[in-house]
Order: sequence, then C-alpha cells, then structure tokens
Amino acid sequence: MIAVVVVRAGQLPAGGAEAVAECAGRALLAGSGLAEAAAQLTGIATELTLVELGDFQPAAWAHGLAPLLAHEPAVLLPASPDGRDLAPRLAGLLHRPLYAGATAVGPQRIELARNGGRELHTATPGPEFVATLQPGVRGVEAHPHLPAATVGAVTVHLYPEARDPLVLDVQPPDPATIDLAEAPRIVGGGAGLDGPQRITQLAQLGAALGASMGATRVITDRGWVPHERQIGTTGVVVDPQLYIAFGVSGAVQHTSGLGDPAHIISVNTDQYCPMMQLADLAIVADANATLDALLDLLAENAS
Ligand SMILES: Cc1cc2nc3c(=O)[nH]c(=O)nc-3n(C[C@H](O)[C@H](O)[C@H](O)COP(=O)(O)OP(=O)(O)OC[C@H]3O[C@@H](n4cnc5c(N)ncnc54)[C@H](O)[C@@H]3O)c2cc1C
Repeated sequence: MIAVVVVRAGQLPAGGAEAVAECAGRALLAGSGLAEAAAQLTGIATELTLVELGDFQPAAWAHGLAPLLAHEPAVLLPASPDGRDLAPRLAGLLHRPLYAGATAVGPQRIELARNGGRELHTATPGPEFVATLQPGVRGVEAHPHLPAATVGAVTVHLYPEARDPLVLDVQPPDPATIDLAEAPRIVGGGAGLDGPQRITQLAQLGAALGASMGATRVITDRGWVPHERQIGTTGVVVDPQLYIAFGVSGAVQHTSGLGDPAHIISVNTDQYCPMMQLADLAIVADANATLDALLDLLAENAS
C-alpha cells in the first residue's frame, strides 16, 4: 500500500501521518514544501517519493500522478478536504473502486464508517483499489529508533487541459464553521452546562480563542447544538491540539472520538470523572460560573 498525501506549503493535512503509518511508512508526498513535510514524518515514514507540484489542482494532479501509481495495488489518501478531492479522480483514472471514509485499511479488509459513524461495515476489496482514511481514528505514534526514510524525487508533467476550477483566493478556515474534524482547537460543552444560552457563551469563548465549538451527545440530543458538532463514536472524530471541556464527564463514547490532543483542559465539579483524569489542567469549578468569568475577562480586555 502507498499513501498519497497532499501537502500545502509544508503542512501535512489532518490524517496525513496516519495514512502514512497505515501504509507501513510508504508514501508519495505531492504539493509544495515537501522537505518540511517529510521532516514531520520522522519515525513514521520509511520510503518517501516527493513530487513538487505547487498549488493544488486536483484534476491536473490526478492526471499527472495516476501513471506513477498504476503499479501500486492499494492507494490510500487521508480523508482531508484535499484527499477527498483527489481520491475519486485517481480512482476514476486508475479504473478502480474507491472506498471512502475508511477507519482501517489492509490489502484484504477495509473497515468503513457509514451513516455518520453509526454503522461500521467491513469490505473485502479486490486486488486494486483507492481508499481514504478518516483522520483521528487510527492515531499514530512516531518510533524514535526507526531509520531515516529513503527519499526520492520525481517530476511529473501536469495536464493543463485538465479542467480544474479557477482558484481566486484561499482563505484561512473560520473556526465557527470549519469541519470539526479539521479543527486544531475545540471548546466542548457537556451536561454540566445549565442551559442553551451557555452554548452561545461557549461559541463566543471559542471565537476569542480561535477554537471551534463541539459538544457531547447529551447536548446534541437536547437540540442545543446540531449533530455535526457532536464529538464521539456516533458523532465526529476529531483530533485537535487543544481541547477545553466544560462540564463533560468523559464517557468512553465521547473520548474515543477525541483523537490525541496535545493539551486537554477540563472544568468540572467532579474531580474524579474521566475527563478530569485525562486533563493536563483539571479545574474543579462550576463550568457555568467559569464561562461567565472568562467572558467578563474578555470583555474587560476588549474595553
Ligand atoms: C451507543 C452509544 C453511542 C454514544 N455516542 C456518543 C458520542 O458520540 N458522543 C458523546 O459525547 N456521547 C455519546 N454517547 C453518550 C455517552 O455515553 C455519555 O452519556 C455522554 O458522552 C455524556 O455526556 P456528558 O459528559 O455531557 O454528560 P454526563 O455524563 O451527564 O456528565 C456531565 C458532567 O458534568 C459535570 N457537571 C455537572 N454540573 C456541573 C457544573 N455545574 N460545572 C461543571 N461540571 C458539572 C458532572 O460532574 C459530569 O462529569 C453514546 C452512548 C451510547 C450508548
């Protein structure tokens, strides 16, 4: 298996390292800033092929990359926005089935999340396929003693006649609307919040911190927050750097969708609940009063 990872200005996409790990370290990195991206795969990658292609043009890239991948039986992309753009085009050009949104991929068995993660299906692929891997599910651990990856560079010819949309501008994502799975910072609300107005406060706090807002199933079941903001096994699997939980108990169905945040802060009245045990900073306090105090501080600083 080989991972195909789209790199923008040296940044690996969400799930990029996981896709490389799922392919036992074999990957083709395409895009810009590839040396920088390759360095982020130390301890994970074993064999890298770098294809400098500049700005992302999925149709032109697919035509350029397909011949390079024709001899690879299994091609895996992270299900990041760019991966989801490129994968079906590669599958079409390679005349292969596409298994989208997999949670685990092997040559003979693919696990697929369907219906918003409520159903898990197992597929038995044929000898050749393209798949996308859901970010944040597999996790990845760098092995410090893994020898440095072998690195090769390849030049491919793009097809200017391939019809790609004209990109006028690339804007940074808005934390309020970004796909939660992609959010680097998340503020999460749970049943410790005492009313729907707390969700508005949580969103305000998130906006000030550049963080997206997520919630537990108790909150989405109450209708305070739409389902696409639910974190967990039957919601969205996320993988933020920072997670701040307000009144969240940390039930396994919630935390198993949390990825592996570098920093967790939890505000809870129960110091022994699982979310507090997971936290780097566990604040034993009323989550509602804490939100009030934080927003007062922000208002003071703004005036
Ligand atoms: C099949 C299945 C799938 C599920 N999928 C999901 C899923 O995808 N996502 C998900 O989140 N859940 C899921 N659940 C539900 C999950 O099991 C938990 O019930 C849920 O995560 C608990 O949400 P909570 O932490 O908001 O509520 P609770 O478990 O009720 O916890 C509330 C927390 O708030 C604290 N608290 C109370 N008052 C305050 C206060 N004033 N200040 C601060 N803290 C306070 C309490 O100490 C407690 O820790 C699923 C359950 C099942 C059976």
